[in-house]
Amino acid sequence: MVSVSDVAREEARRIDLDSLKTAGIERTIEGFYILGNYPPLTAMDDYDEEDLLAGNTQNELDVYMHFQFCEQLCSFCHFYMDQSARNSDDSKVTRYLENLKKEVSMLNERMGGVKARSIYVGGGTPSFMSAEQIRDLFAHVRREFIVPEGITITFDVHPEIMRSVYREEKFDALKQAGVNRISIGGVDLDDKVLRYQNRGHTAKETVELIQALKLSGFSHVVTDLMMGIPHQTAENWERTIEILTGDTCQIDSAMTFPLMFKASQPLWARYQRRTKEFPTIEERIVLQLIAMNKFAEAGYSSGPIYYFNRGQEHMNDQQLRKFETLDETGLLPIGVSSFGFINGCQYFNTPDIAEYNAIVESGRLPVWRAAKLTARQNFERAVMFGMKSRGINKKAVEKKYGLNVDREYADVIRRFEDAGLLESRQEYLRLTRSGELFAEEVCNHFVGEDVRRKAERTAAVTDPKHPIQRYNYNMIGHRLQ
Ligand code: SF4
Repeated sequence: MVSVSDVAREEARRIDLDSLKTAGIERTIEGFYILGNYPPLTAMDDYDEEDLLAGNTQNELDVYMHFQFCEQLCSFCHFYMDQSARNSDDSKVTRYLENLKKEVSMLNERMGGVKARSIYVGGGTPSFMSAEQIRDLFAHVRREFIVPEGITITFDVHPEIMRSVYREEKFDALKQAGVNRISIGGVDLDDKVLRYQNRGHTAKETVELIQALKLSGFSHVVTDLMMGIPHQTAENWERTIEILTGDTCQIDSAMTFPLMFKASQPLWARYQRRTKEFPTIEERIVLQLIAMNKFAEAGYSSGPIYYFNRGQEHMNDQQLRKFETLDETGLLPIGVSSFGFINGCQYFNTPDIAEYNAIVESGRLPVWRAAKLTARQNFERAVMFGMKSRGINKKAVEKKYGLNVDREYADVIRRFEDAGLLESRQEYLRLTRSGELFAEEVCNHFVGEDVRRKAERTAAVTDPKHPIQRYNYNMIGHRLQ
């Protein structure tokens, strides 16, 4: 019998990387990164809270809260995290949580009240918090913000919680807090792959966690996976997806991140020394095709790119708004190193915990860098993120932004249609199946020249390990050495 892996290998063999290069699409392991936000951090300026909030009228927002403490040091990690706390009672944790609550109160006051349309607590590892801390944090958020009944409240949980004697107590605290969506950083279900990444848990523990969460009644249990890491093969990746989508887990939604390098990441140093341990570009394409085929076979729909769902209700609201609507204008970031989009600005909070504590304790908001989007940049953002999902409705885009997609991007669209990466009709523009495999590189051609120039100027004078590079979740201005 021909396996899904064989079918994917055959499809990958038919992709002509040389012709794509002629069309302007060149993938390298070093240069690859997603287009995570727009404009990128490298194209932002230092900002303060007055500039950010002046004239703001939007109070109904998605809320993102960052909790940076973590027990692990996964080799691919480049999120803002802090391994220094010994346990959840550590004074560093309690001080940070007090400041997080203070920031919630300051935002509520300065914005004239906040109504949450979703809440996401990510990290780091928020499940590092004690049950009491979880209860206390959510009680404070509910005292300050309006939190309507039934909105999606997501909380990141690390599978190491299966070893904790406080597991049930923490599940209860989450349920009492109204958390209804649990996101697990699963990565893979092969123990060798997990060990190599220093994940600190086994595949069995991830599966048991999914089952325990479902039994406890959480409505949405989702996981983040990673493609392209050492020891991942077509076969063990296929098996991972089979277990997650089968009767044992029936995961509600999965995100399959491609591996991306940052100079600050332990895995980048390893890649330079032992390149052969890592899947090649061609093998990574095979892994992506396996994910597309296996999830489809199990009845999951796809979109935005890399996401697979048993129903849209399981998706992250914040991501859906960004990719699937033309209205991603209300993401409120709280905590160190979090990023959001309010009052027409894409912005980041300070990425340094000492600075974060000092700023919040002095009664100011920890705003770090921001970019106020021009009308043109809002249009570019809508086109790029829309294409990275199910495509864009050209008329709707023109109505909202006053710019015609065909006119503005005539050359690019023609070139990528000829290369088989884009499908353009009178009503819509979307990536083809091959286009999905190179979505980031295709969308990179829709970036505004002003944004690109600024990002590249910043990248040229910034050390690759500087926070501006480390937290630049973007291929625009991405630099490893
Ligand atoms: S568990 Fe998450 S935050 Fe912690 S080291 Fe691993 S990837 Fe980073």
